[in-house]
Formats: sequence, structure tokens, C-alpha cells
Amino acid sequence: MSHPINEPILAYARGSQERIDIKSELDRQMNQVLEIPCIIGGKEVFTNNTVNQVIPHKHKHIIARVHLAGKDEMEAACNAAVAAQKSWIEIGLEERCAIFERCADLLAGEWRMRVNAATMLNQSKTVYQAEIDAACELIDFWRFNCHYARGFHDDFQPLVSPKGVLNTTEIRPLEGFVLSITPFNFASIAANLPSAPAIVGCTSVWKPSRNSYHSNYVLMQLMMEAGLPDGVINFLPGSGAEITETALSNPNFAGLHFTGSTGTFQGLWQEIGLALPKLKSYPRIVGETGGKDFVVAHPDCNHRGLLVALLRGSFEYQGQKCSAASRAYVPKSVWSIISDDLCAEIKKIKMGDACDFSNFMTAVIDQRSFDKITGYIDRAKNDPNCEIAVGGNYDDSVGWFVEPTIIVTSDHNSETMSEEIFGPVLTVYVYEDNDFENILKICDESSPYALTGSIFANDEVNIQKAFNALRFTAGNFYINDKPTGAVVAQQPFGGARASGTNDKAGGPLNLLRWISPRSVKRTLEIPQEWEYPFMESDN
Ligand code: NAD
Repeated sequence: MSHPINEPILAYARGSQERIDIKSELDRQMNQVLEIPCIIGGKEVFTNNTVNQVIPHKHKHIIARVHLAGKDEMEAACNAAVAAQKSWIEIGLEERCAIFERCADLLAGEWRMRVNAATMLNQSKTVYQAEIDAACELIDFWRFNCHYARGFHDDFQPLVSPKGVLNTTEIRPLEGFVLSITPFNFASIAANLPSAPAIVGCTSVWKPSRNSYHSNYVLMQLMMEAGLPDGVINFLPGSGAEITETALSNPNFAGLHFTGSTGTFQGLWQEIGLALPKLKSYPRIVGETGGKDFVVAHPDCNHRGLLVALLRGSFEYQGQKCSAASRAYVPKSVWSIISDDLCAEIKKIKMGDACDFSNFMTAVIDQRSFDKITGYIDRAKNDPNCEIAVGGNYDDSVGWFVEPTIIVTSDHNSETMSEEIFGPVLTVYVYEDNDFENILKICDESSPYALTGSIFANDEVNIQKAFNALRFTAGNFYINDKPTGAVVAQQPFGGARASGTNDKAGGPLNLLRWISPRSVKRTLEIPQEWEYPFMESDN
């Protein structure tokens, strides 16, 4: 079966049509305040209990007023999802795929600028970061998920049907609704979490992050325009804790599709465990969570390649990718060669408004995040084992801006070498050149996470040493590249240990979690006798 191709990335170079289009769409969105309702059973619900959505790089500017769900809306959304499932199953896989492939076509075409501009303003992404996330990755999620879902029907049919029998497998969805709780940092992930289960016949209650209501609502509107039937996905801005409580009190809760931090996911898993006696089924729990992503360099490595990987891998999207490099183990000989150049290049990084295309970085997502990140920087400034090699300043007067920062530490167990910071902060531990094998062990043991990581080395023997020593240290492993930028259908994404259930979003393994097959035996030659041959007497 032929497969889709990855959506080509637009460059937005000076003079290009896409650059003209996105600028005019940014202007349009900057001059409106969108009123965002809940969407329940296909209907807009304005609760008048509202919060403002602001632009992180210009936090006095309001782009949306969001109507939050209360208890009644939460219950109604769960019920709407349950009510919609029967007809959603019965329209069949092909029609469901046709809807999501239409979503992909709309996003690749007339909705592209609207969604990208919303993501640039709502989540403070540069145009390129918005394009690779909100447009390309989501188009890929939708197209490849449909492709993979079609494959199940052939791949999972029983191998054997003896004479007189026809064995088949019905690829049934889970019975009930899936609760999709989504993170702020990728619009693509946010829309994928409710829609991946929907492709195989589940219905969803979608709780977006409070920091991405605006872009997520635009994506919800897109799906409705593509013909998503009422109630299949119910969009519910509001408190995660309350929505979870309501969902778990409904016996039809069938699964959780989560991406976000490790602490939140662990809490949710425990709550689901406690709710089990009230539920009809054992729910499926899929969660992709935090990371402490690493780069290990060998003394024999490509110096310029390492420098570029550290810069892009750590600071693109202000280090707010779950895959962002945030700890590096660099041999003394290499650090003495690259550190000045690396710091000089980082000082050239321009940071500011996402609408100014000369900026490589913009602001971090909110005050809470700003305070958390700057807390790590301040503690490092006061730690005798740490030195700020570059950056270290911050300013939240206009937007939540944190300079790209490198901390050099002499303690490979320092907090910034082991905890997720989720901001533009890279910590470097400089090791003795002959300590490579020990450093692999330290890298493996220093953090509870296991999401992404890279090895930089020229010699295949050293690459293989790292490959083997770091087998369980990263779910996505890179050789001579930055640890970010996974592409759907190329490097299926997800981590293990404290980084998640590693079900690889955008791939067939994830879709399989949302199905619960029914095995069907059809007897063509119906037995007419009840006695078996062994029962014949020997006499
Ligand atoms: P978060 O955990 O703060 O929030 C994620 C979602 O959970 C949000 O919708 C939030 O409202 C909700 N939530 C928070 N507390 C809740 C509660 N008590 N009950 C129910 N829902 C609750 O994470 P975030 O800041 O939005 O995203 C950043 C995190 O996501 C980072 O840790 C990052 O590593 C991780 N992430 C992981 C991946 C991956 O694929 N592994 C991808 C993207 C982001």
C-alpha cells in the first residue's frame, strides 16, 4: 500500500508569498479578541466564566477571552462523547479517515496561515517553529494515522480458518470515551491526542492547556469545518483536575491520552487506579511526559556539528520542546576548542517578538514558567560548582524573556543536570578525555527521564559503545545530530522510564492502544451431532 509523504516545510524567506500571507494574518489576529466557547456535542457553549489569553512575548496584549467549562459542561461533554460513539463507529473507517484527511488538506491549504499565526501568537513560536509544529507535524499525524489505521484491518486478520469455519477480527474501538489532556508546547500534539483515538472509532473529551486555548480552538474549528460529526471531539477549556474528576465518575471513561509533565501524569494514573471499581472497562493509559535530554560528545567528534546541535537543540523554541537538549557531557579537549565559539554564537541570537522574523527566540510561555526557569539560573549563580558561561539574564516587563543560558558545572549531579527545566538553559559537564565509558554510565544514571539523547563521535566503535550503554536512556536516540526535530513516520517519538509509556505518537503502536478487537468465528458447517468419536465404546 503506498503511503503519504511528509508535508514539505515552507521557508518563509524574504519575498515569498507565504511570508506575505502570514504577516497579513498576524496583523488580522493581533487586531481581534477571539471569543472562545466550549464545544459540546457540536454546539458552542458560552459560560461567561472567562479568562483572558495573552501573548507571551507581549503579555499585556489579550488575544482571546475563553469561556471555561463548569461541572455541568463537563458532564455534558462526557455524555455527548458517549452518545456520539455508535454512529461514529457505524460510518466506518473509510469515512472517518476521509474526514481527517480533509482536515490535513485544509491545514495544508487555506487554514495554514490561520493556524500558524495563532500558534505564533498564542505559544510565542517563530514562524519556522510554528510551521514545523502546527502545520507540518499535524498534517503528518492526520495523514499517517489514517494510513496506519487502514493497515490494521488487513494485518490483524486471523491466519487460519479451517474448512467449514470463517475466522475474522473486528477492529473495534474502546467502548466509551477517551479523555485527552494536552500540553501547551505543540499545537500538533494537542490536536492529535483527541483525533488519533477518533480515527479508530473512539470519541473524545479534549482538555487543552490553559496556555494554548487560542491555537487549539482554531484547530477545533478546522476539524468541524472538515465535517467532524457533533460530539466526536468535545472541546473543554477548564480545570484539568475538575474535568478529570468528572470524567472518572462516568463509568464510560475508557482511556486517557495525555502529554505533559511527569508529575501531572503520575497523579492522573493514581486517580484512575482509585476509580477502577466504578468503571465499565479497564481504561487504557497513554502518556508522553517530561525529559532531561542529553548530548554526549566523544573526544573524537565533529566540533562544528556539536556546536550547532547544542545551540539549536537547546534554544530553539526557548528550550520548551520535551526533546530539547538540556545537559551535555563534553570532553575537556573539545570544550577548550568550542566553548568560546559556542558562547559567541549564542550572543548573536536575537530574541523578541515572534512577528519580527529576525528573531531566533521569543518568550517562554507564562509567569510560572519564567519564575521556575529563572529560579534554576539564580541558584546556579550562587552555586560554587556552577559558572554561567553565557546568558543568565531575564526580563518579564514586556514578555517573559529568558536569555539563552549555558551553565558549566563541576558536579554531574547538580540539579540542572538532572531535573527538567523546560526553558533555554543548557548545563555542560566537562569530563576528562579518557573517561568516556564512565561518562556514559553517569549519563544513564543521572536522571529519571529517558526521552531523547545524542552521541557525537566519529569512530563507529565509540558510537556503538554509546548505543549499547544508553539503550534505555532515550526512546529517541540520535547519532551526530541534535536530539530534537523528530519527524512523523521517520523517527516515531516517545520515551520510557519517567518520560512516558513510549507508545510513539503518530505511529501504529499508539493507534493500537485505542482498539479492543472482537474475534469472530463463523461456522459454515454447523455441527448436528453432540457426541464425540472418543465416546464410542471399545466393545
Ligand atoms: P503540564 O503537565 O503542566 O500540563 C499538561 C496538561 O495537563 C495541561 O492541559 C494541564 O492543564 C493539565 N493538568 C495539569 N494539572 C492537572 C491535573 N491535576 N489534573 C488534570 N490535568 C492537569 O505540562 P505543560 O506545561 O503543558 O507541558 C510541558 C510538559 O510536557 C513538559 O514536561 C514536557 O516535557 C512535556 N511534553 C512531553 C512530550 C512528549 O512527547 N514526551 C511532548 C510535549 C510536552
